[in-house]
Order: sequence, then structure tokens, then C-alpha cells
Amino acid sequence: MYDEQTREIALAAMAAGESLNAISKRLGVSRAALREWRDGKVRRTPPANCPRCGSGTLDTSSYAHLLGLYLGDGCLSRHRREVYALRIACDDVYPRLINEAAAAMSAVHPSRPVHRVRAVGYTSVVSYWKHWPCLFPQHGPGPKHGRTIALADWQREIVAEHPQLFLRGLFDSDGCRVTNWTTRTVAGQTKRYEYPRYMFSNESTDIMHLCQWALDLLEIPWRMPRRNALSVARRVAVAKLDQFVGPKS
Ligand SMILES: [Zn+2]
Repeated sequence: MYDEQTREIALAAMAAGESLNAISKRLGVSRAALREWRDGKVRRTPPANCPRCGSGTLDTSSYAHLLGLYLGDGCLSRHRREVYALRIACDDVYPRLINEAAAAMSAVHPSRPVHRVRAVGYTSVVSYWKHWPCLFPQHGPGPKHGRTIALADWQREIVAEHPQLFLRGLFDSDGCRVTNWTTRTVAGQTKRYEYPRYMFSNESTDIMHLCQWALDLLEIPWRMPRRNALSVARRVAVAKLDQFVGPKS
């Protein structure tokens, strides 16, 4: 027997057009089982109970990650019958990001498939649920930098519990790891020195404050070279971020 999450991931992959062979190899699921799922011989599970207004449980580490991604490149949109789409836009250059966004979404809302919608240059990772606004009360009209973004107490608790994953989500969407270099002559020999650092850019002062707060929780020093750009450049600080963010891929 395969678990529910494996089935949802497989269904999402099939919906995205991945071949049965490839999915079978990737997930270790027989092609017969994949065909059965695809043809709907196994009944779908009922909609998940909401962890906020119902008695469902929340995978808090995946939620912290998803919250970071949502604040970076995510949005909620209302569809028919009060169903909302959570959409995270991921650059096609970074397949790891696309897979991670899909995995985080699937862990937070496991009873429905996660879709990958291709556009020019990017892929939207999408999941439909009536309860996305319960989980992202920051939802509102207009761009995030045009409105107040404050976390609810329960969200702050989750981020304080998993600041690494929250930061991974933020830096993966609106940040980057860059390497500057210079040469210096030491004892007659020209040596190349590299200076990796992390940048995080966001137009929302509130989201910037959340990034600073999460870095402070981990005692990672940062500075603000510009109003809308944060930099983590000290060697020890970069090494810390490397443990749980790293370059995009
Ligand atoms: Zn709810």
C-alpha cells in the first residue's frame, strides 16, 4: 500500500504531464498503481479538515516553509463556490524550488492534488482549498507592499519554532546567494578571494521586518544596504544560512 501523500504527488505529477515511467521511478510506485489512481478506481479521500476553523492538524514545519514562500511569491485568489487558489510562482530556472513549493503545499493540504501550471519562464504551483484564507489571513486586495502584513500570534509561534524553513521560503522566493570576488597579491602570488553573501529584496517593509526578525531569532547578523534590500555578508552568518538555504537550484 502507498500512503495518501504519495498518491497525491503522483496524481499531481500525472496532471502536470510527467510520464508514468518517470513517476514510477521517482516515487517507487508501480505503474499498475499509477494507472489505477489515474483512472480513478480508488476513491478520493474527503476534503481535509481545516486546522484553524476545524479539528485538522497542521504540519507546522511545512507551514513555516510555505508561509515564507507565500510572503515572497505567493498569492490567494477566490474562485467559484468560495474555493481559493493558493499560487506560488516559481522561476523555471530553479526546478528544486518548484518541487519544494509543491511538497510544502501538499504537506499542508494533503487531501487534494497540487497542480503545476506552466507559463512563459515560470511555473505556478497551485492548490485549491476553501480554507487557504484561514491559513493565510494576510490575504487581501492589492499587492502585499501596499497593505499591512502582520502575522497572527499562532503564525509567529510557528515561525519561532521553525525560523530556518521560514527563511528558506523567503530567500528562495525573493532572495539570492551571490558570490563577489576580488584578487589580491600575497607574497608575489595573485590569489582569488570569494565573498559569498545573501541578499533579500522586498518592497514591503512589513515582510522585510519579518525576515529581520527570523534572522535575529537565529542570531544571524544582517544589514540594510538599501531601504528594500537586506544583506547577510559576514562569513559566519553566510555559513549559517548555507546550512538551510543555499544557492537556488
Ligand atoms: Zn478554515
